[in-house]
Amino acid sequence: MKETGHPLPVAALAWPSRVFALALGLLLLTAWSHALAQPGAREFDPDAGLSAILLGTGVPLPNPDRQTACTAVIAGDRVFLVDTGRNCIVPLDQAGIDEVDGVFYTHYHSDHFIGLGEILLDFGIGGIDRRIPVRGPEGAIEVVTGLLAAYRLDLEYRIAHHGDKFAAAAMNPRVTEHEPGIVLEEDGLRVTMFPVCHEPVEPAVGYRFEFRGEVLVVSGDTRVCPAYAEGAAGADLLISEAENAAMFNTPIALARAVGNTRQLEMIEEGMAYHAETLALARMAQEAGVEKLALTHLFPSIAPTEAAEALFIQGMSDYFDGPIIVGRDGMEVAP
Ligand SMILES: [Zn+2]
Ligand SMILES: [Zn+2]
Repeated sequence: MKETGHPLPVAALAWPSRVFALALGLLLLTAWSHALAQPGAREFDPDAGLSAILLGTGVPLPNPDRQTACTAVIAGDRVFLVDTGRNCIVPLDQAGIDEVDGVFYTHYHSDHFIGLGEILLDFGIGGIDRRIPVRGPEGAIEVVTGLLAAYRLDLEYRIAHHGDKFAAAAMNPRVTEHEPGIVLEEDGLRVTMFPVCHEPVEPAVGYRFEFRGEVLVVSGDTRVCPAYAEGAAGADLLISEAENAAMFNTPIALARAVGNTRQLEMIEEGMAYHAETLALARMAQEAGVEKLALTHLFPSIAPTEAAEALFIQGMSDYFDGPIIVGRDGMEVAP
């Protein structure tokens, strides 16, 4: 049998050790209560306009600094998620968001939905006892039903163990599928779904949020194309996916040099359906966009000023407004 050492009673320690033990105790207590505390729920200002928190700015390739597609859009004190990518629950928790008013899906590449189960489970543990509205283009029901089917046993165990203290309704979202057009109009907020170009992924859409005279657009995954430009037209803030083509020159040259056709084609196919930075800058300027925030960064660069400067190199030759390179947890507003 293994036995851990018995801690000495504090009274038996000499004075310096006693102080040390007390300090250690306090430290552990702080860490413990922090880990146990409900995340400090953040209060959003009901009188505020539109803003967003970039919760996941990466792509499927693993990058410890970037989760995958997940953006919180905040309208007054209402919070919506556009996509729920890998590990999004962590930046969501760090942002102090412990419940949302709805989820919007742009398309069903797994890097855009795989984090939903973790988010809903956290809501269940947190006692959010209501069904969250989930909206998306066709495919939403299949994806969400399939994902939550994998949680059936987990849900059964939690209800058996915790009874109705576990908020089971959170694990049963209200999923609806929509065609492009207005998908939500409520208390001065209008959300419009528009088609984008991410072939062969069909449907693929972006969302346009209009609230208190401001327009915030989230692109979803798309190359630059007229439908995307139309959806983004006149946005005060465009949160766009982005691909820096020049950064792929070296990997392409290497793959070519060693005759790795598979890798070469994988890179080129990946590049074909994302928004190349210079084309995006031109489109944003022509479409009357005021401000750009880049997310879904391809390649998945390190969150450093040097890498970010390289990523947007040349964009301001075409686009007059501010260009923000997203990092996980970053807040952006029109
Ligand atoms: Zn993606
Ligand atoms: Zn995609």
